[in-house]
Amino acid sequence: MHGPNLLNWMNPRRATMLADLATLVSAETPSRDKTLLDPFATMLAGRFQALGGKVDLIDNSAGGNHLEAWFAADAQLDLPPALILAHFDTVWPRGTLADRPFRIDGPRAYGPGSYDMKASIILLEAALTGLRELGLTPRRPIHVLITSDEEIGSPTSRSLIEASARDAAHALVLEPPLPGGLLKTARKGVGGFTIEIEGKAAHAGIEPEKGVSAINELVLQIPRINALANPAVGTTINVGLIEGGTTPNVVPARAMARVDVRVTTMDEARRIEDAFHELQALTPGASVQVTGGINRPPMERTPAGRDLFERTRQIGRSLGLELGEGSTGGGSDGNFTAALGVATLDGLGMPGAGAHAIDEHILIESLPERAALLACLLLEL
Ligand SMILES: [Zn+2]
Repeated sequence: MHGPNLLNWMNPRRATMLADLATLVSAETPSRDKTLLDPFATMLAGRFQALGGKVDLIDNSAGGNHLEAWFAADAQLDLPPALILAHFDTVWPRGTLADRPFRIDGPRAYGPGSYDMKASIILLEAALTGLRELGLTPRRPIHVLITSDEEIGSPTSRSLIEASARDAAHALVLEPPLPGGLLKTARKGVGGFTIEIEGKAAHAGIEPEKGVSAINELVLQIPRINALANPAVGTTINVGLIEGGTTPNVVPARAMARVDVRVTTMDEARRIEDAFHELQALTPGASVQVTGGINRPPMERTPAGRDLFERTRQIGRSLGLELGEGSTGGGSDGNFTAALGVATLDGLGMPGAGAHAIDEHILIESLPERAALLACLLLEL
């Protein structure tokens, strides 16, 4: 077990890791801004090349470029690679740094995208550097994907992630952990549906009977939609946005709702998708059109995922870490890999808090131990 050696190597490097984190946080990377994403991907490519990786920038005309890197590709052992998933986009718009630059305050380091998940990229760099400098060869080739669009549902990276996962022994996802540093072994699936209602416009004063109110129809549909929830099995529904009508004296011809759905099992995903697409108008003359679906399948607990977590917990003990696990309602790219049957462990990023919130931060103290943990996983799994 090389855990203690790796931890000893990481311990004096906290300040270096923080300086590297400052560099990454100080370059903004909103998910839809290619002019900011592409230079960042290029910068990352340089950093990973300097660590001895075989690095490719993946051109993406529909969004920011993605980064792919291979390490230990010449490992003698003929084993399938470990897939490491990270993303460099953040939910923060251009200009956020002007109000909230990177800053250190006591035990915490703050900044947009620090916790979700630029600190994770720093952990990976530190892990790879530590292994190299200590002359330790990972057990299997390491396939790294750092993508540019996770925060908007991975529209352009999903196929790349899935193709990579099919060849991998397991997927290690560097999203932040749960409170207390708990690893994520289950995630809800995420769906989005749009309900569009068409009625018929008419003058509200002169001949309202000739109209069909799309708003009234939508109001009838909403209880039916909410009734699809089954919180006992983790299925929740949020009608998060409604719109409709034009002006008070016109019977509204159009109305629409957008709905967020979370599910814990594929069975529930199918039930919900079927139910949404079977919604029918209740008002004569109105029509209902439903689009959307479950876009991230649930990451369910599987025997292979459980085994991966148990081995990780053993490795954590060699570093003096008692790792726990938990589930979350949020989705990540781990949902895609788990749905393919690939053993997936998520939450390997930095402890902290405030994902997508203005107090986003990491806990500085944990940098060495989380970097050492990741290095040990690359070495031994
Ligand atoms: Zn994230």
